[in-house]
Amino acid sequence: MTETVHVYAGDCTATYHRDGDATHQRGRVVVVHKPDGTVLVHDAEGYQPVQWLTRANAVHREQGEDGSFALVAVKEDERLRVESHDRGDHARHDATPAGVPVGTCPDCTGAKDVEATTSKSAGTLVWARGAVACLHCPTEHRLPGDATVLDSACDCGLPRMAVERGARFELCVDRGCEGLDEVVRERFDREWSCPNCDGDLQVLRERTLFLGCENYPDCESSFALPDEEVVGECDCGLPLVETSDGPRCLDRDCDESEDGESEDKSENGSENDVIETDDGEKGETEKDDEAEGEADDEMEDGEADESETD
Ligand SMILES: [Zn+2]
Ligand SMILES: [Zn+2]
Ligand SMILES: [Zn+2]
Ligand SMILES: [Zn+2]
Repeated sequence: MTETVHVYAGDCTATYHRDGDATHQRGRVVVVHKPDGTVLVHDAEGYQPVQWLTRANAVHREQGEDGSFALVAVKEDERLRVESHDRGDHARHDATPAGVPVGTCPDCTGAKDVEATTSKSAGTLVWARGAVACLHCPTEHRLPGDATVLDSACDCGLPRMAVERGARFELCVDRGCEGLDEVVRERFDREWSCPNCDGDLQVLRERTLFLGCENYPDCESSFALPDEEVVGECDCGLPLVETSDGPRCLDRDCDESEDGESEDKSENGSENDVIETDDGEKGETEKDDEAEGEADDEMEDGEADESETD
């Protein structure tokens, strides 16, 4: 996915406002305006900008007929204004996410448009910010938050990934090719029984994958799928998972489990309400898991409200 980064250079004054205070700095600087609304003002030294505003709500750019320019970035109570004192430089550059190269894109490798292009990045897949994306075409696959991209490739040409859901699952990064829900279900659906009513536990999804009793709504038992590896079965019917302290019941409050009497017990509330709070990470995962549409949502808060007068 290619976007545009604007680069300005010149003798500028950068003014940063917050809570009625203003800081002025003047120098010959390079200003970078990224598509997510981030504005960075770099001087001659160091890696750090002398002024910046990350993911501004709006960035307004002006370019005078004499070649001078001004940028104003606004984010809540912060404001960054950069104004050139003379004729400055302005350039636009294509930019993509930068990540670990993880193979070549099956959607555009070998295609005529790749042969025609001189771009060296054509067809390269990179793993960046929770997604595998092609540097050349719009192909992008969002991954579960805890996924690791592997060296091996799927038959479809895309790389494979590893995800821990009670076991290590290796599957295609494209959920249309191989879905996480299906492989987890195939392995763990009805594998264990409900500690409360002895019904089967099914692998279900509601935002996150979880184990839910087949007798719902009469029985509301539900359990988060563990990040840890399943190493056996507890007397209560639930899986035992491997932890650094040894195996424990998936239900931290379980009385059948050896460490059922441990201090863990006080931490959790009712017995049934066991979608663990440490699932926060997984919640995020699912968000990524959900749909391509999510990516668009993310863009929204970074989207810069641009206007140019050149
Ligand atoms: Zn591609
Ligand atoms: Zn595949
Ligand atoms: Zn039940
Ligand atoms: Zn148990």
